[in-house]
Amino acid sequence: MKKTIRDIDVNGKRCLVRVDYNVPMNAELKIVDDTRIVATLPTINYLVDHGAKVILCSHLGRPNGQVNTKLSLRPVLARLSKLLNKPISFAEDVLDKSTDEMVDRMQNGDILMLENIRFYKQEDENDPKFAKRLADLADIYVFEAFATAHRKHASTYGVASLLPSVIGFLVEQELQVFDKVLNNPEHPFVAILGGAKISDKLPVIENLLDKVDYILIGGGMAYTFIKAIGGNIGMSIIDNTKLDLAKEILDKAKEKGVKIMLPIDNVGAKEFSEDAETKLFNSGFFADDYQGMDIGPKTIKMFKKIIKKARTIVWNGPLGVYEYDKFKKGTNKIAKYVAKSKAISLIGGGDSIAAIQSLGVAKKVTHLSTGGGASLMLLQGKTLPCVELIEDI
Ligand code: AMP
Repeated sequence: MKKTIRDIDVNGKRCLVRVDYNVPMNAELKIVDDTRIVATLPTINYLVDHGAKVILCSHLGRPNGQVNTKLSLRPVLARLSKLLNKPISFAEDVLDKSTDEMVDRMQNGDILMLENIRFYKQEDENDPKFAKRLADLADIYVFEAFATAHRKHASTYGVASLLPSVIGFLVEQELQVFDKVLNNPEHPFVAILGGAKISDKLPVIENLLDKVDYILIGGGMAYTFIKAIGGNIGMSIIDNTKLDLAKEILDKAKEKGVKIMLPIDNVGAKEFSEDAETKLFNSGFFADDYQGMDIGPKTIKMFKKIIKKARTIVWNGPLGVYEYDKFKKGTNKIAKYVAKSKAISLIGGGDSIAAIQSLGVAKKVTHLSTGGGASLMLLQGKTLPCVELIEDI
């Protein structure tokens, strides 16, 4: 168990809180969705109520180490200030001595926000001098940016090794859910995996083989498995370097009594486009000039039955090319069944979360993880570098 802000005395202490305010904005620089800001309110309120001096640090977008006014955190400051009903000061340049003066002037309960930390190339490089500069501004480091927990940057990793470090409530909740699901799941435990990057997902399957009862596979990654057992996949997406490993995993699953369910039918398209001619194909029997774009109706039915009896569900990755209306049926149906299920459900990855949100059923899911890469890393059985640095209780 990692130390949280509850486990230390923050009164009068300068707390550098690394949050993730990488929020979507429109062309007029208006925040489109403030979920990530709202998610940090419990931690900020706790720190303010307990007399801490709160220094917020975040990135926004990819400015590639350059100042870019379109990616300024000022709109985030305005929204946060409104949500907290409290003024927040803003430090334009963390390297300038005016920032030290602002920190020196802070009273207990005050909040200061630093400008986009990725305006400095030293951030992504985890530059030790830059990390030291950040550490010098504070007495305590609070890690609250779960979505960046897999990245070794100066404000996420570098500074955590220089200050007494704890996690905030958002990271605590993420870790608790992953721990429950991966180490103490209720059975039947069903994992649903999709998406295109099979190299990310194979380590997840390998890790889950000792934990789950079923693995439902859809999306582009399914075709590597289908080819590995001798099926014809036509023009479907394939990673030929992973055929042996896919076959090995299927054999291992059989030995362990884990049922890996591959699609039995597929929506095929003549080309990768929204208006392509489509046709249904049973798995392994594609026409040579078609590619798999979605799971078919028989597969949806088969997956539904399994999801219905699940007590724990983990889902990562869309079951088809859901960005196109024509090929989003599989993903949307699965999203609906997961939301309807009484199981503990954990969804990670931007695409699966977007599907759940577009159907308006997000509240029915136990936990939507705020971290794509970080959640994949946990599902792969790895530890998160930034969380590793936090002291244990
Ligand atoms: P990933 O990042 O690995 O989770 O992959 C997500 C992407 O996989 C999405 O952009 C989907 O459009 C894509 N995808 C899902 N199914 C297929 C498919 N059958 N063929 C090609 N791409 C797919």
